[in-house]
Amino acid sequence: MKNNLSNIKKAIKYLDKNKCVGIPTETVYGLAANAYSSIATAKIFKLKKRPKINPLIVHYYNLKLLKRDCEINDFFLKLYKKYSPGPISYILKLKKNSLISKNVTNNKNTLAVRFPGHPLTRNLLKKLNYPLAAPSANISTKISPVSKKDVKDEFGKKLSLILDGGQSQIGVESTIVNLINKPQVLRLGGIPKEQIKKYLNLNVEYKKKSKLKVPGQEKTHYSPYIKLRLNIKHPEKHEAFMLLKKRKKLSSNYFYLSKNNNLREAAKNLYKTLRLIKKKKFRSIAVEKIPNKGFGEVINDRLKRASYFK
Ligand code: AMP
Ligand code: MG
Repeated sequence: MKNNLSNIKKAIKYLDKNKCVGIPTETVYGLAANAYSSIATAKIFKLKKRPKINPLIVHYYNLKLLKRDCEINDFFLKLYKKYSPGPISYILKLKKNSLISKNVTNNKNTLAVRFPGHPLTRNLLKKLNYPLAAPSANISTKISPVSKKDVKDEFGKKLSLILDGGQSQIGVESTIVNLINKPQVLRLGGIPKEQIKKYLNLNVEYKKKSKLKVPGQEKTHYSPYIKLRLNIKHPEKHEAFMLLKKRKKLSSNYFYLSKNNNLREAAKNLYKTLRLIKKKKFRSIAVEKIPNKGFGEVINDRLKRASYFK
């Protein structure tokens, strides 16, 4: 804990100087910078090689600062009460006099906001007088990081401070809900869509193609840059085989996402396993059929995008 405290102090020093810091969250690790600073947020785009048109999610500690920057509405308050802090992001209307840098929103009048639940990052946010813009801490279109080491593998010496919060417990990105009009899911993620639907008692649609630009909606994304085939029963001999269900036969090219068919656990292990397969220098990945429900729907969404890489 003492170690964490001195690391948080160091992170504040870096952030105050408009530098980027790697931060743990329960979804994936983030590349954070002061969301009010154009100098700081420009660095995020440069490090990630992220197209400027892709807006960033801004991370808040609670509603206090948020109310300065965004218009809040009843659907937001209802969802916030139940799911925040947690793996869900909300698209809200930006206030005219908000302090958010235009880099963050690509000059638009909407803002994606999240309240991360990871205690270390909450502790950091609590001590800052600005929110943190923080996209996933990976080079654009590649696999998202779920540990400090993953972030290091992405940026090497270009990023000098990464806070260590252990492995991300959700392991996939946040669910993004557009709350500008009727609630609509823009990206599947850490809170399954069905739960939100049930809770709001509303037909919340998943809008794959939205006018709002969302990076997680591009074709190749979350990619290990290896060929990836879905719904496979029998892999080829030299292929890595990613599995949910235990097989009787064990083989060195079998990689299990979960011990006992648990989809939540599989989502948590997804990016870690893809990274491991890449490290082992496999040239192709076969994935067995994953049930398309709950966290399975999120896993399939990410794998489908990863499979566009040829
Ligand atoms: P990442 O931080 O890598 O998980 O990506 C951030 C996600 O939030 C992307 O999918 C963004 O496009 C999305 N996002 C951020 N701001 C907005 C916005 N104003 N409207 C719609 N999506 C947004
Ligand atoms: Mg990302």
